[in-house]
Amino acid sequence: MPEEKKSESKQWKEALFAKKKHGALQMTEEELLACESFSKDYMSFLNHAKTEREVCTKVESLLQEHGFVPFVPGMPLKTGDKIYQNNRGKAMIAAVIGTASITEGVRLCAAHIDSPRLDLKQNPLYEDSELALFKTHYYGGIKKYQWTAIPLSLHGVIIKADGTKVTVNIGEAEGDPVFCVTDLLPHLAQEQMKRASGSIIRGEELNLLVGSMPFKKDEESESVKLNLLHILYEKYGITESDFVSAELEAVPAFSVKEVGFDRSMIGGYGHDDRVCAYPALRALLDSNIPTHTAVVILTDKEETGSDGNTGLCSSYLKYFIEDLADCFGAKGRHVLHASQCLSADVNAAFDPTFPDVMERNNCAYLNHGVCVTKFTGARGKSGTSDASAEFVGTVRQLFNAENVVWQTGELGKVDGGGGGTVAAYIANLDVDTIDVGVPVLCMHAPFEVVSKIDVYMTYRAFFVFMAS
Ligand code: MN
Ligand code: MN
Repeated sequence: MPEEKKSESKQWKEALFAKKKHGALQMTEEELLACESFSKDYMSFLNHAKTEREVCTKVESLLQEHGFVPFVPGMPLKTGDKIYQNNRGKAMIAAVIGTASITEGVRLCAAHIDSPRLDLKQNPLYEDSELALFKTHYYGGIKKYQWTAIPLSLHGVIIKADGTKVTVNIGEAEGDPVFCVTDLLPHLAQEQMKRASGSIIRGEELNLLVGSMPFKKDEESESVKLNLLHILYEKYGITESDFVSAELEAVPAFSVKEVGFDRSMIGGYGHDDRVCAYPALRALLDSNIPTHTAVVILTDKEETGSDGNTGLCSSYLKYFIEDLADCFGAKGRHVLHASQCLSADVNAAFDPTFPDVMERNNCAYLNHGVCVTKFTGARGKSGTSDASAEFVGTVRQLFNAENVVWQTGELGKVDGGGGGTVAAYIANLDVDTIDVGVPVLCMHAPFEVVSKIDVYMTYRAFFVFMAS
């Protein structure tokens, strides 16, 4: 067949129009295989680290396996040294010292490892109508109705009266019991369904069902509660008042699954933001000696606004950089000023079932690669750090040069709602910062969905950034 001559408009179109394409059509077979293998590692990580504490513990052991040692302020450091700082068992900073002077700044990837969930209250246990229940207080932004009638597991720590710590993880292992928040049957839900949608399930209705058997020795009142406390005493050595110094978190008990006949997606709890935390960590573990010192921070408390000493509104990152700078006789603020940060957090993916919340030219699509979000915030960009065109240009050049499949996205329509990440808090430290992360369907639901290609490309993005 003779080659058809392209029309002039077709040629100009190819030269001038921005191209949007499914990631799979931009990747080699080799890359797709690497993507598949990375996804398996990520899925296993998700199944074994469901809370910030569990991620922190898992990450610490991975860091140690890879030769990272605890950072001690003032310690002598040289190129290639690997250090980490565990912040109270809930947040982690890890770094590999680069070949360039520390005053040339660090390459920082920042993700969060807390996810929306139901926390137990400090006096959680009560008996009502021969059922034992735990009162909860939800953590982060959730649609409360999504958390009823699904199996939940319980994770966390209890500090006993004598100060000893008990670690709890129940509902995950094969054969473990699980718990659940009950909901009303549709037959009797006429009044409930008339409630405003935000209160179909109210905060005080998120009660966790944990038992129904009485203590049988004699006929005391509250014998179901007594039986439950007796079980907890035998299992953990705790009494009711020990809950007051506990942090117990109820999270979905099911494991991560591949989604779709083509297995192209991953569904599970807590992609936000372990889907960025794991790729950032892996990029650091897999990297050679970088030019600029590479730093990964996995932080807590993002879902409640980043306040508290394990959240990024606190000074722990700034203090770490100051201490790091001190080791080289430099000033922390000079290091921060020269640094660059990918604030690694998820964005909303376009959902064809709910197209109205998105502006199609400026939202993220599943499988179109890692999403670069120039600004977040609400209304007139309130609360955003808004990356500069120059820094977007730097990131764009890097990703294009390294064949990272990427896209841009904004969190929904203007005035449609909004949201923020830790980007602003890092940018406020005088660091060039931009949001980069994975597009997610059903964000903040007990079962969130991401695409394998986007997860892998997020890993690639962090890897090439920290190597730059
Ligand atoms: Mn997030
Ligand atoms: Mn979130």
